[in-house]
Order: sequence, then structure tokens, then C-alpha cells
Amino acid sequence: MDYPRFTAEMRKTHTILIPNMLDIHMRLFENALRGCGYNVEVLHNEGASVVEEGLKYVHNDTCYPALLVIGQFIDALNHRNDVDKVALLITQTGGGCRASNYIHLLRKALVKAGYPQVPVISLNASNLEKDSGLKLNYTLIKKVVAAMTYGDFLMYIRNKCQTYEIKQGQTKELTDYWVQKLSDEIDNNKGLSFHSIKKNLNLIARDYDNIYLDTNKKAPKVGIVGEIYIKYAGLGNNHLENFLLEQGAEVMVPGLYGFIFYCLYNSIYDHEFYGSGITKSLVSRFLIYYLKRREKLMIKALEKTKITPMKYFSETKELSNGVLSHGTKMGEGWLLTAEMMELVETGYENIICAQPFGCLPNHICGKGVMKKIKEIHPDANIVAIDYDPSATKVNQENRIKLMLAIAKERL
Ligand code: SF4
Repeated sequence: MDYPRFTAEMRKTHTILIPNMLDIHMRLFENALRGCGYNVEVLHNEGASVVEEGLKYVHNDTCYPALLVIGQFIDALNHRNDVDKVALLITQTGGGCRASNYIHLLRKALVKAGYPQVPVISLNASNLEKDSGLKLNYTLIKKVVAAMTYGDFLMYIRNKCQTYEIKQGQTKELTDYWVQKLSDEIDNNKGLSFHSIKKNLNLIARDYDNIYLDTNKKAPKVGIVGEIYIKYAGLGNNHLENFLLEQGAEVMVPGLYGFIFYCLYNSIYDHEFYGSGITKSLVSRFLIYYLKRREKLMIKALEKTKITPMKYFSETKELSNGVLSHGTKMGEGWLLTAEMMELVETGYENIICAQPFGCLPNHICGKGVMKKIKEIHPDANIVAIDYDPSATKVNQENRIKLMLAIAKERL
């Protein structure tokens, strides 16, 4: 196909723009790529112009996450004077959902918006777009895995502390300190080996364990699940986490490890249930083993503190049994169900299921299983919130406040 490629030489000349999704993780990923010789910039532009650009260049039937990501890219290009030295990076899951095809929509939108020269890079583990100058080699994978481990750990531990801190702002200060320290390490090829990750996780756990928490404070515990972009990105969910914190809630957002494990297990189920080749399944088994060793480090580090550790994903995965089959793997599929079950079982019985309007897979695996989850756990207080360009923030927040009112009454 005829579109501009990102060549290996462009590493030196081009800035790669990445849409923001998870604040902590993205800062670490930015440094992981930078440490491999890429000049990277995470986008933080938000506001009405992003949605407007999205609506202008993609059909309004398009998934809301795609509309926002494309809108954010074009809005960013509109405000730069170096568009000939810029490339855009987008992920492709390689699954059956529309997310694998956002890249084509983006290329079409760039031509229409007057930026046909801007190359788009696909970041994927499915061997798509093989002609790209950005390769997922061992060094980059090692850096990305370390960044993801630190990102998940910091996000989890921060969420566990910030609502209860006695000295206002202490958790944020500590998180900023660690994100900066780890970013520098990753950039300089440090903190990547199994043993350095272990050492860093233990140090982080010790630091957070020293934060004075108000153990008598009663706060509603709220979990956020949903479509991956809308669940994590403040741009997609109107800064849901901040809103919940303002309402005095303790917020829990399942980490990225869960999503990666979910994708890897799906390759195994593809082979077992649907007869696809065994090679991918074997590679996935090896990667699961690799990640499980690092997941264990996070849990072991927390076991030495007063902070309750997260569950092993191998346990979470089993929780969807009896509710939704592991063969249901479009969108967030069985992961969404498993995460809701996990949240309820770990005390976060108040759940917001954040869904892009019109996203069929997530409506089935989210909204569609709520009745069953409530049958198993009658205390579950779940609300599904739709996000799209016409949904108003006030309306979304009012529905969340209703859910919180029930949660507070129960406290
Ligand atoms: S999960 Fe939903 S929002 Fe995401 S690509 Fe699939 S249909 Fe679109």
C-alpha cells in the first residue's frame, strides 16, 4: 500500500508522538523508547478541539477511543511547525476487534487533514506492519516490561494510600519521586534485570509503607473496569479517577499486566478452542512464565508491608468461570468479567464499568454479565457509564454520584 513508512534513519530526525493513556506508565514507556534511541513525546493536549478534530476526520460511528486518539494526533499536528519531522505511534492488538484497524483510519484522516507525509508506526506483537523502522527487539521488550512492572506497582500502591494519607500530597510527592528515578534508570539501561526490579520494588514498598495513613477513615472503595482506553485515559473518561478522589473514594484500577496476560492466554485458548497453530500458543506460554516471575516480585514486595497485595492473575483469570467462557475474547472479553469478580471479592464492590458508546464486545462482557455477578455477589454495586462525544460529563457524574450514594450508605 502507498503510505509513508517510518524508516530506521528517521530515528535520528523524527519525533514520535504517542497518545497518553496511563500517566505513570506513559512517562516510563517514554523513557524506555528514548533509551533505545527514539525521540518520543507523549501527548497531553485535551479539550473540545480534540473531539472536534476527531469528529471532523472519522465517521461518528467509529469507536470513541479511535475518534479521540485520531483527534488528539491531528490537534497536536495543527499546533506544531515541525510536521515534516514527526511520526505517530499507535498500538494494534491484532485481535478480531476494530482496534486492529484504527491505524488505517488514522492514515486516511491524516491525508484528509493535509498531513499525508506523516508516517504512522504500529506497535504490535502480532507481526503486523513488518516494514516499520521501529522493531520490538529484546532490549526494547525488556525495557517495556520493566516500565510496565514499575507502572503497575506504583499505580496500585499509590491508589492504596492516597485516600488515607494524613499529610496531604505525600503520596503524590513520593510517586513523582519514584517515577522520575525509575525513568532515569530505564533511560540509562538500569533497573531492568530481574534482580534490579526486585530491589527497586522492595524499596518502593518500604517507602510507601512509611506513609502515615488514617486507618479509621471510612471511604467507599470503587473499582474501574471497561474498555482499555476509556478505563485508563483521562481524556476518554473525563478524568474519572480525579472525580472519584474528589468525592472521597478509594479508587482501584486493575493494572496493565492483566490486559497483557489476557492477550497471551487468548493465544493459548485460540489453539485449544479454535484450532489455531501451536507456535503462538507456545510463545505465549513462555511470555506468561516470564511475566509471572515479575508479577510475583510485586506481590512478595507488598507482603512485607501493611498494604494488601494484588491477586495473582492466575487466580483472577479463574474468576470468570461460571459467568463467561474464556472463549469470549473480543474487546476486553472475559478479562472484564474476571476483573469485576476480583474487585468485588477484594472489597471493591462498587464498580464503574466505563464503556465507549456502541462498543459491542464490552457491552456484552460488561453490562451483559452484571446480572449474573449480582446473583453471585448480591452486594455488588455496579454502574455502566457510556462515553461518547455527545455524552455530557454532568450526566456521567450524576450517575456515578448515585452509585456513590449507595456505597456511602452501606459504609
Ligand atoms: S473494544 Fe469496543 S471500542 Fe475497542 S475497538 Fe472493539 S468495538 Fe471498538
